[in-house]
Amino acid sequence: DNPIQRKPAWIRVKAPTSPIYHETRALMRDSKLVTVCEEAACPNIGECWSQRHATMMIMGEVCTRACSFCNVATGLPKALDEDEPRRVGEAVAKMGLRHVVVTSVDRDDLRDGGARHFARTIAAIREAAPGTTVEVLTPDFLRKDGALEVVVEARPDVFNHNLETVPRLYPNIRPGARYYHSLRLLDRVKRLDPTVFTKSGLMAGLGEERIEVQQVMDDMRSAEVDFLTIGQYLQPTVKHAAVARFVEPAEFEDYAAMARAKGFLLVSATPLTRSSYHADRDFAALQAA
Ligand code: SF4
Ligand code: SF4
Repeated sequence: DNPIQRKPAWIRVKAPTSPIYHETRALMRDSKLVTVCEEAACPNIGECWSQRHATMMIMGEVCTRACSFCNVATGLPKALDEDEPRRVGEAVAKMGLRHVVVTSVDRDDLRDGGARHFARTIAAIREAAPGTTVEVLTPDFLRKDGALEVVVEARPDVFNHNLETVPRLYPNIRPGARYYHSLRLLDRVKRLDPTVFTKSGLMAGLGEERIEVQQVMDDMRSAEVDFLTIGQYLQPTVKHAAVARFVEPAEFEDYAAMARAKGFLLVSATPLTRSSYHADRDFAALQAA
């Protein structure tokens, strides 16, 4: 028997009840769009959707990878929905978003890993909502030569790719991914276009040691990563990787201080931090600074 572990008091989420939450939900349904907020059963959905902040997940609901922390189904995905970029653009315009995060499943089945679909989605948002800043959270494009270039040429404002965990835990947590490949991906974005902000993130509570987290931060800074997020891993179902421990709020504060000292421009490290949590607010504040 392996019940879902009891969450500590500091992992509290507000029930999604506001009218704007329901409005956001209806718009996603009507536009036939998938959000990572729902797919990942994100604990912040009540707060984010009530503030018209959502993360779109493009290229379907089925992933070619099987990361042990992730709630998305694994299998052979369907063909790309060619009309999806247009619908994302329209939804972003209708919601009046200041900042949008677009992510996707991994599409190892596609020759370009879905890079062109990402680029088309960025272009469609630019056209429908020119004032909205665009953040992409991409797959690793492992063995997809030329794919990264296609996404960077579409000029997202923020390019995010999560390292997720420390290299020692990759075989269990991110099988199918390679730590140094993902790190190099972030480095290559900066070389291709230094004006694009880069961002990455880690989950805490999977069994990583403080010194390993420190090393990953150094690796990220050596790749000139600008923004960092760290949040508590929560087990989606009993079939997923177990929580090794709940990292205390004070330890998150310690990580945040460490990250700022290492020179990250934006840092979010709290138990409920997710890759896209407060991304709208934080990026607007940085631009205003
Ligand atoms: Fe969605 Fe990100 Fe907010 Fe979670 S933190 S509800 S994934 S926008
Ligand atoms: Fe989930 Fe992304 Fe891993 Fe696919 S690649 S299983 S969507 S974390």
